[in-house]
Amino acid sequence: MCYYRDMNDNIPNSKICTGCSEDKLLEDFGNHKKGKYGKRQKCKACTKGLNDTYYEKNAEKVRARERWYRESNPEREKERQRKKYLRTKAQNNE
Ligand SMILES: [Zn+2]
Repeated sequence: MCYYRDMNDNIPNSKICTGCSEDKLLEDFGNHKKGKYGKRQKCKACTKGLNDTYYEKNAEKVRARERWYRESNPEREKERQRKKYLRTKAQNNE
């Protein structure tokens, strides 16, 4: 009986996900008979690919903001392009 209790005591309430490398609660992992502590290696979010979607969404947000910035600052963007052009020209002349 003691043996079983010790086994239970050794089970942590969290483990590191192999997908996102985050220390997550065991309840965040799906059940898997052969997995460590009877849980999958990846958390539920990673298993469902939710984390990828999250990053994709963020990347899209960042791109949208950059686009918005360029569109709302056309003069600055023009100046940036001009400087880039001059820099390239100077480099070619060297
Ligand atoms: Zn994960």
